[in-house]
Amino acid sequence: MLSALNLSDRGLSVTVIDAGGQRPPASWAGGGILSPLFAWRYPDPMNRLSHDATARYRGLVERLRGKAGLRASDLNESGLWAAVDGDERRDALRWASSWGVRCQAAPLSQHLSAAPERDGLWFPDIGNLRNPRLLKALRAALVAQRVEFVNASVEAVRPGAIGAELALSHGGRVTAPRVLIGAGAWTSTLLEPLGVDLPLFPAKGEMLLYRLPPGRVRSIVLTDEGYLIPRADGAVLAGSTLKAGDATTYPTVTGRWALQAMAASLLPELASVTPSYHWAGVRPGSDRDWPYLGPVPGTRGVFAAAGLHRNGLVAAPASAELLVRLMCGETPSLDPAAYSLSGAPS
Ligand SMILES: Cc1cc2nc3c(=O)[nH]c(=O)nc-3n(C[C@H](O)[C@H](O)[C@H](O)COP(=O)(O)OP(=O)(O)OC[C@H]3O[C@@H](n4cnc5c(N)ncnc54)[C@H](O)[C@@H]3O)c2cc1C
Repeated sequence: MLSALNLSDRGLSVTVIDAGGQRPPASWAGGGILSPLFAWRYPDPMNRLSHDATARYRGLVERLRGKAGLRASDLNESGLWAAVDGDERRDALRWASSWGVRCQAAPLSQHLSAAPERDGLWFPDIGNLRNPRLLKALRAALVAQRVEFVNASVEAVRPGAIGAELALSHGGRVTAPRVLIGAGAWTSTLLEPLGVDLPLFPAKGEMLLYRLPPGRVRSIVLTDEGYLIPRADGAVLAGSTLKAGDATTYPTVTGRWALQAMAASLLPELASVTPSYHWAGVRPGSDRDWPYLGPVPGTRGVFAAAGLHRNGLVAAPASAELLVRLMCGETPSLDPAAYSLSGAPS
């Protein structure tokens, strides 16, 4: 939808074809942390996409504020505390200095009331976004800009001399001179018939939501066992499980137990709080640590966004800008070679 917004802003006529309810978007299910988890563990192409994501979203939320109930506080700029020690601490500090990210040593107790003591690093400029609200606001903005939404599944993409014809589940067909395939965990079902075989897989993830008085969790708390994400109204998300190869969207008892145990290990009072909500989503998993964004080899005017895996929300503004510039024949600010579907090295 962000790509659709950028294209529509350029005055182009845009149609979004989305299977919606049959295949719930990971963009709804995700936690909305605006950083890769432990960003220093990722290669430069991922960091280039995620750099400054909180500031980019600030502009977007400002623009969409009021649409479908989106509030400025839905972008929670309360920072991120990460459990890091030993050699990795040096890596993290080096990463922060080379990317110009503010960072300082801080104990967990400064960020989580009554938490067991643990050393770590504090990143004050990393925020989190209430992504389901952003999706609703984006859709409202797109509708207001006359972007057409078609609720259908694309069964096949048939490239022409320029662009492609799309065969839809209800029997309809749509032709367009420029097509962007972004079907999340199901993208490979559309790319493989075009001869594009990428190392993609579904990766199920589950989350819990607790309702606490505001301020109990003061910033994102990230550990190797899991994370807590505070929303401005006191809601706290606990995430997340990861099951590669699983494309089911129902939450499981095992997932719930694992998340409840993780959440209580970080904040003991959660052991006696019943989660208000438990859900699952399917990440567009990939064997590599950054996504595939760009033209589909062997076509003219067909593009794809694949393998955003755990970082599709943080990467969305930069990914959409890269894709839309390529689609419009403009020079992107990021080098597109690193994201090529032909697997060019970084
Ligand atoms: C539990 C969990 C936690 C996460 N936390 C974070 C986080 O904190 N930060 C972060 O950056 N990322 C996070 N992610 C990852 C992020 O959600 C994804 O990387 C991102 O949403 C992927 O976006 P997408 O547009 O590629 O796919 P999606 O959001 O899944 O959208 C794909 C859309 O395509 C539609 N579709 C599929 N097939 C077809 C078809 N054939 N025809 C038409 N439509 C079709 C689907 O219905 C869906 O609406 C998380 C994911 C999960 C599951």
